[in-house]
Amino acid sequence: MQTQIVMDTFVKETGGYAASQLEACTRCGICAEACHFYQATGNAEFAPVWKIELLKRAYEQRFTLSGKFKLALGIDKAITDSDLKDFSKIVYEACTMCNKCSMVCPMGIQLGPLIHEVRTAFSNAGLVPEDLMAAVNKQVEEGSPLGVTDDVFEDRIEWVADEWEIDIPVDKSGADTLVVFSSIEIMKFPENLAAIAKILNKAGENWTLSSKGREVVNFGFYEGSLERTKAFMQKLFDAAVELGVKKLVVTECGHAYDALRWTSYNIMEVPNIEITHITGLIGEYIDSGKIKLQAGALKNGTVTFHDACKIQRRGGHIKEPRKVLNILAGDSFKEMSPSKEESICCGGGGGVIAIKEADPIRYASFGLKIEQVDKIGAKTVVMACSNCRLQFTDCVQHFDLDWKVAGLSQVVADALEE
Ligand code: SF4
Ligand code: SF4
Repeated sequence: MQTQIVMDTFVKETGGYAASQLEACTRCGICAEACHFYQATGNAEFAPVWKIELLKRAYEQRFTLSGKFKLALGIDKAITDSDLKDFSKIVYEACTMCNKCSMVCPMGIQLGPLIHEVRTAFSNAGLVPEDLMAAVNKQVEEGSPLGVTDDVFEDRIEWVADEWEIDIPVDKSGADTLVVFSSIEIMKFPENLAAIAKILNKAGENWTLSSKGREVVNFGFYEGSLERTKAFMQKLFDAAVELGVKKLVVTECGHAYDALRWTSYNIMEVPNIEITHITGLIGEYIDSGKIKLQAGALKNGTVTFHDACKIQRRGGHIKEPRKVLNILAGDSFKEMSPSKEESICCGGGGGVIAIKEADPIRYASFGLKIEQVDKIGAKTVVMACSNCRLQFTDCVQHFDLDWKVAGLSQVVADALEE
């Protein structure tokens, strides 16, 4: 039954474009070297091309003569339930959807989106890892995977406003900009709420939060469920339309930015509202002189920036963090190698950090990050994604590292000139 659902989804997904991508693969193996899970473990099953193997086999067996022959002669076998279980572990636990593999493929194959299609088939067949599905269900039932219910949201915002003595508008009528935080920020990094509020207030932005569209995280997107990905985004778009805002700002959450900024336009009706990321807005504020930063404010040895896959590689917000860190750290700011578009993923994105069984490979892949940071002797690592930040703070503890981990908005807010 599960096999049938997966096969049906694969067949439905394999239109001309996907078929041409699957046909184009030369099995050169170059994508393997781009994947942090393969690099860190040497496990051939973690090679990106292997993660689309089921999709390719389903396509060949269903649509190509050679595939049909191979199947008839027993050279290739029909896909079984046991194959599905093995591949479910691989595509959810050993892929952060970072999409670096797509960048290096000489044939231009978009491996990340194809792996996402595999996740969609598994989601349809109920083959999502238990931990990840528990978070999805919590988001469906409570509106948040981390328990940010209506009451919790209200309490949390009130507490942050009091604690940091900052004005945080909620459901403000006439606001131009709706700001949406991730549940990770609300529950684990509340200082980010205060930092971003401080920046927006300083820049004179006419902004608000929404009690109806109160968080941006989208576990349906991690899971690969089209229906739930849309439902979670619809809530935000409805809130934005109701408030009549012109702009929707995603805070430090990479995958939610990817979903809202690009995926949404391909899968649903999106209101005519600008969607942007707080990193881009900070860059604009600095350029326009709306905010000014104290030069040299970051004093903790060498400082580096970790580029998030969805905000920098996918989103292109590469210059803005450098602009900030060149002011705040000057010569103490050093780049990791590789960085920018070619950055190595933190290893915790794509829902991986939510799956306990993925811990060993998640930590193994972070070994690459440790090597990168240690090579330049950085003691402060700044980033603009709270999911990366969760992975970094957890790994700093796990490996007993003496690094300071900071959000980009936090370092900007701390250095604002009065
Ligand atoms: S790099 Fe591209 S062509 Fe080479 S194995 Fe990977 S997917 Fe296939
Ligand atoms: S998207 Fe990233 S994690 Fe997934 S296979 Fe490609 S390189 Fe590896």
